[in-house]
Amino acid sequence: MAIRLPRIWQKFQKAKRDPKGVYPDPRLKDLILFVTDRCNMRCDHCMFWRRIDDPGPEMSLESLRKIAASIDPLRTLAITGGEPFLRKDLGEIVETFYRDNRTHHVQINTNGVLMDRMEELVRRDLGARYKHHLTFQISLDGLEETHDRLRRAPGSFQKILRNLERLTALSKEYAYFRTVVLTNINKTNHHQIEELSEMLWDGIGVEHTYDLVRGVSFSSWNIPKDIRQEEDPRECDLPSLDELPSIYERILKVNEREGRPFDQFMRQLGVQVDMLLGRPAPFYCLSAGRTAGVIYSDGSAAACEFTTPFASLADYDYNLKRLWLSPEGEERRKRIQCCRCTHTCFVLTSLQEWEEQNAGARPSKTRASNP
Ligand code: SF4
Ligand code: SF4
Repeated sequence: MAIRLPRIWQKFQKAKRDPKGVYPDPRLKDLILFVTDRCNMRCDHCMFWRRIDDPGPEMSLESLRKIAASIDPLRTLAITGGEPFLRKDLGEIVETFYRDNRTHHVQINTNGVLMDRMEELVRRDLGARYKHHLTFQISLDGLEETHDRLRRAPGSFQKILRNLERLTALSKEYAYFRTVVLTNINKTNHHQIEELSEMLWDGIGVEHTYDLVRGVSFSSWNIPKDIRQEEDPRECDLPSLDELPSIYERILKVNEREGRPFDQFMRQLGVQVDMLLGRPAPFYCLSAGRTAGVIYSDGSAAACEFTTPFASLADYDYNLKRLWLSPEGEERRKRIQCCRCTHTCFVLTSLQEWEEQNAGARPSKTRASNP
């Protein structure tokens, strides 16, 4: 009688034969949750500026509770918007996911100006009760003049620096909490990478990571026209392609100087740079619509931020698991197998999936090598 290999082993064997990876079963591990379209800034690089200018409805806490209870425990819940701290019930939303979903890690993407609300959330000390992790990812897009111009928010740079000092002190008080600064690299700010690192890492002691400015028109390929989101920055471009390799090398040096806190991110950035330069990625988009997804503040659900929502949670009584496994979900997974993009969240989660399938196989340390 033939021995039946465990499913995970079969998958691993298949992944070894197929370097592009095996599409995993649809079970959410990482969720991007928009809790509001409202924002107190109007950034040049914001992909969602149309929604920010004309905010839609927001799901109630009750609906969010149903969502949290309906799915298996998440690895990461990324709460975003708009500016999430504009929601007065943000603390309850975070607690709901810790309590009803047992989410391992909650990350809040914020522009970092609403200090009192940020502090109040950390001091709830949810980590002590639920033993999970909380990260604030705060955007800082260059030195003072550059940041304030890109964010169209005069005075915000200085305010954020003061807030970062307070948040760094809070992270020493509360072990479950940390702050990370994110810089969106674009045409006008990439020359400030090293100076920013010195200011943030040496000056304040806060970890600092990077993203490439994104937009559907310059960060994606082959998305079927009828499901392609028309999301592009209001006014912001990538650096020129021939500058990308040296930008990558400079960020790599910064990561090494800071003790390599973002090695996985560097592998992801390497893949993104390779793709932008026209080289194939070493793996498919393995996560979108399967292990990773997006819920907008009106309750619509999408496989990723570059494709249109395919269903509304209101039609499923906010049972996200049922929606995810529905025929609509299955249909969308089939439709997105042809597209590719450099959207950070989905390259990172696909990289994680691919590395798990290949038990530690990695794209090379400098830039991703092609299979
Ligand atoms: S990028 Fe963030 S802070 Fe800026 S307008 Fe968009 S949602 Fe608001
Ligand atoms: S995240 Fe994946 S599914 Fe979405 S556009 Fe990019 S490649 Fe396609």
